[in-house]
Amino acid sequence: MSSSSYISNDVNVDKWYDQGCDELLKCSSSPSKQVQNCSILKNIIRGAVLRVASDLSGGTVLENIKCRVTATSQSPIQACKDIIEQPGGIWNLWTGTPSRMIEGSLMGGIFLVANQATKAQILRMGASPNLAALCGGIVGGVAQSVIMTPTGLLFTSLNVNKSKPGHENDTAISLAKDIVSKQGVQGLFVGIGPMAVRQASNWSSRSLFTELCRTNLQLSRFGLMGEIGSGIIGGLGSCWNTPIETVRVLMQRDYSLGVEPKTFGGYVEEEMKKGGVPALFRGVTPRACQAVWQTVFMVVVPNLLGVYIDENEAQIELQPHNLLLAKEVIKRLGPHEGEKYLGVRNAISGSNRDEFKARKEQVADMAGRVATSNITRQQAYMIHSIQYKPAIVYPLQHTTFTDKQCKTIQTPMVNALLPKMGFNRHMPRAVVFGPSRYGGIELITLETEQLASHLDSLVKDLRTTTLQSEERSIVLAAYQRYMGCGKHFLENDPSDWPYKPVNSKTTYIWSMTWKHGISIRSSHFWVPQSSFSNDEAIMDGIVRVAKARRGTAQHLSDDCIANANTVQIYLRVHFLSDMVVNGKIDEEIFRVERRRDTSEVYPQQEYPSAKAISDWKRAVRAAFIYGDMGIGIDLTERESNGENIATDLQEYIQSQPHYVRQIMGQQSEGWSKEDTQEIVKALQEGRVVTIFGDGSVKEGRGSHAYRIIPHEDIEQQKGSITAGAVTNGDSRWITSLRTEQMSQLGALYALYAIAVTSGIVETTSTFLFRYDNQESLRRIKLVETFYTDASPLATDHDVWAEIARVCEQFPNITVEESWVKGHQDDGDEEITPEAQHNIDMDALAEQHRESTEVMPLPPFFVSEKAQILLGGIPVTQGFHQQLRLHLQGEKLQKYIMGKTGWSQHQFDTVNWEALERYMKTVAPGKRTNIIKAQHGWHHTCERDAMFKETSDFQSKHTSTLCPFGCGESDYRWHFLRCDKSPIAAEVTRELSKLKAMFKRYKVQREMQSILLQRIKATLQRQRLTPMQLHDSTDPVLQAALDEQDVLGWDQFLLGRQSKRWEEVQQKEYSRLASQLPKNSKLPAHYKATVFSKMLIQESTYIALNRWQVHNEVAHTAITAKEYIRDRDKAKKKIQKLLAESRPDHIAFTRQIPVTTESLLSQPLDRMRDWIATWTATKAYLAPSLITTYTTT
Ligand SMILES: [Zn+2]
Repeated sequence: MSSSSYISNDVNVDKWYDQGCDELLKCSSSPSKQVQNCSILKNIIRGAVLRVASDLSGGTVLENIKCRVTATSQSPIQACKDIIEQPGGIWNLWTGTPSRMIEGSLMGGIFLVANQATKAQILRMGASPNLAALCGGIVGGVAQSVIMTPTGLLFTSLNVNKSKPGHENDTAISLAKDIVSKQGVQGLFVGIGPMAVRQASNWSSRSLFTELCRTNLQLSRFGLMGEIGSGIIGGLGSCWNTPIETVRVLMQRDYSLGVEPKTFGGYVEEEMKKGGVPALFRGVTPRACQAVWQTVFMVVVPNLLGVYIDENEAQIELQPHNLLLAKEVIKRLGPHEGEKYLGVRNAISGSNRDEFKARKEQVADMAGRVATSNITRQQAYMIHSIQYKPAIVYPLQHTTFTDKQCKTIQTPMVNALLPKMGFNRHMPRAVVFGPSRYGGIELITLETEQLASHLDSLVKDLRTTTLQSEERSIVLAAYQRYMGCGKHFLENDPSDWPYKPVNSKTTYIWSMTWKHGISIRSSHFWVPQSSFSNDEAIMDGIVRVAKARRGTAQHLSDDCIANANTVQIYLRVHFLSDMVVNGKIDEEIFRVERRRDTSEVYPQQEYPSAKAISDWKRAVRAAFIYGDMGIGIDLTERESNGENIATDLQEYIQSQPHYVRQIMGQQSEGWSKEDTQEIVKALQEGRVVTIFGDGSVKEGRGSHAYRIIPHEDIEQQKGSITAGAVTNGDSRWITSLRTEQMSQLGALYALYAIAVTSGIVETTSTFLFRYDNQESLRRIKLVETFYTDASPLATDHDVWAEIARVCEQFPNITVEESWVKGHQDDGDEEITPEAQHNIDMDALAEQHRESTEVMPLPPFFVSEKAQILLGGIPVTQGFHQQLRLHLQGEKLQKYIMGKTGWSQHQFDTVNWEALERYMKTVAPGKRTNIIKAQHGWHHTCERDAMFKETSDFQSKHTSTLCPFGCGESDYRWHFLRCDKSPIAAEVTRELSKLKAMFKRYKVQREMQSILLQRIKATLQRQRLTPMQLHDSTDPVLQAALDEQDVLGWDQFLLGRQSKRWEEVQQKEYSRLASQLPKNSKLPAHYKATVFSKMLIQESTYIALNRWQVHNEVAHTAITAKEYIRDRDKAKKKIQKLLAESRPDHIAFTRQIPVTTESLLSQPLDRMRDWIATWTATKAYLAPSLITTYTTT
């Protein structure tokens, strides 16, 4: 697709989504375009757009005023003034906008669909258009109230409680959370009665009045103005139901204020007593305006846009605004029928059936085009990354394809791409899908990407505070209640629970995470609580018995367990204690004659069938009943642990979770009140408190240190405290930023401990952080707006969130930051006090890192709303990449270990990070060669043996012997060390580029000679014997050598090198840096990570040359002898060309650095390429041409 089509107006919207376009907002914000191709779901979007547009342009303001007038008896003007005068000013009028946006976007659409569908039905029954409009309004209105009630409640509550003490920080979310935690989900539906009545009466009259104007009064004659006029009259007319609205607001107001809501009649009576009928019509003026406004948007605009009902056919049709275009019939859908909505075929039942079918066809079609096209390797890689990947990943957040479905969809594309990328189609899937870190091709897999998208959105939802995230929490809580287990369902084995909901994203996440050893933790998950310590959830007990009896005659079938669960839900019991009275099972509950009386929310459940009840009795009897309705245990009540905060500092510190004490550091356990006296004073007086700190990570260990100075004058250290600790430094999840932030967190924990035990958390002090890391300073500066600013998937989000939480414990502090230039302590330089503190912290952190303190596990903070653990390790950065590594890495790891014979430990000594860095820099075409060489995947006997059976494997190469004729079998990496290889005698030349690299990167001397010696010996097929280096040699170098001897030196040439080489060079660069004169630095490319990448690049170069020579002989039908002859000719030609005199021109001097030596060790093809380039350059720059072109 050309890029210009993205801005074209007439492009088919659905096509965009199919091809992975994400410009959703652009097209949904222009509703008129969508009418031309309308369906029910599009109608929903359009309704949403209309409603939201109406709100943003004034609807919300009017609702705010109306709400206040009704709830407080003020006049509209007074109410408006009051609202604006509160903190927040004019923007208060838009309070609750997010909550109304959600409501608006859902209900606008629902109204349109329900309304139009009903109208069509009524018309078909032979009624007049007016009656149809009335009925359409009623049905549409009731459908809406289901959505409107919770949002309306939040809205009213926010408005009434605004600026009351204790409610200053209320948001739609905090309120919803509060209500759900106190009352359960049902709490959100207080007032649903009046809401439904109001909505029904509201819209029916509004539609009716508008329709009357339009038809009977024939206002439509007047065109657009007539339509708007009908809308206004409709809106005003619909205000007769204001009393209902008044009652709804009052009822929800009382609920928000914590007053028991009265009945509908109760409110009417009360209001009539207060002020007669007019009291019930309070707020009618803003309400009328609002009604008019909404009517214009919801009733008139759709008519103008052309939602059209054909009265004869009784079908819903859409007439595009352009009357010349044909009407379109709205499709009726079955529950499993997927209707394409924003590019994904969603079915009401959650089934993926239609989406699967469509994706399968789409990929097969794409694969067909790739297979028949004539594309280069480079283009094949491009198609994978910029066409196939985005198109296929796009719907995955909404689908729950099984692994088998994923495979079915992607297989044709994998089979089409591999040959175009230069691989054999039989390449092991471990390599095809494996991560590039281990030398895999890293083709995307649907199953991995699908799980990644689901986990991604889960983390985002849990960590942010949007209505969407609230909805997610409610869904998870409802799921938990439905499953009926005692601990969080994600911690249970899903296969033990036969009644999991089908077609559910939550079920999908549960099954997949369990299958792949992924766990999700959250301090915000809702889990039911029992007041007894030895209680058991009823379903836990039943599942326990079912497992124990599996395979016996008395087993409980899956149906029996599922039936028991429906009865459990009907009875509204969760724990055993819920059905125990005086130590015995309550017989009435057991026999399903009575439900438990509770305010807790349970899913709606009909009275169970006789079969279900008998299953229930059987399961409960098996799990809990001993003798005559006894339960065999005495339930013991939990002791309530009082929330007394210790006033003694040490007592308080000891009462903290282990990770808090650990991050504060061991020193904190010796601080007395006297030690911290100065800090207490500073906090009491609201003075500046200065905080220095630093972090360090090396060799898998991290550490941090901090210093708190109770004043601004940092030359005075009086009363300051200093501490440090070791932190986890696992390279899979640690960053240096993280350790730096740990020191900020440690200081904050310490300050809070001191403040809370002295009773001064209300301090107005300024905490001034003085650090040398700008990113950690940026983050500390943003703690106040953390929850709105931070990306939920940001690196080290957890530490950052915890810092924000601790800062919130000090409501009145100011956080400031100031950058300190990082310093090396070289002893003789005069340094500023701030630099001195910085150096101290660096040194203290180092000290802890090098100490013998036990390295802690990654912490799980109380603020952590979502933590994902892969194989027990929390992911704190690069989530998608780590997930791919976790899901696909293991298979490739096993494959490599199988081929090399390595143990897990040996595998882990390889510098895979460096290999990955290298692979990322290689051009796609060349990457194919490296991958093939690395995995020994070329024309070898191994492959022949593997595919001899398959019919489509055609090979001219029938021998399994080495093509050079050495007589040995052509096995795996034999090509590297075959002494009959045409370049076997050119070892010195082959090493020339590597040597040049050593020189350029100032590689440690001893390492240079060891590497050259070992590589040479390998290429010359010598026996390698263990080498004992001199006593004075760095032991790390000895370790590197020993490790590589075990890994193998042919593996070294393939890029699988010990991590220790990098470590040795790291030391070398530190040594070089220390010898530099003051204020000067090593050149930027002197970095150990760059060195290890270059080492791989240059050693792989040698291997690739040999690999290509091998292939040239194997694939062309010539003998090794002929090849050697041709290659010798080419070598002579090169030497001759280089010896010739040539114009003194930069084009030549540029080519010369490719030294003669390294040029002469190349395979034949590359020599020929070089000869051609050189000859062409010379011809172009020949003297006659130079005079013609370059002198003008
Ligand atoms: Zn050979």
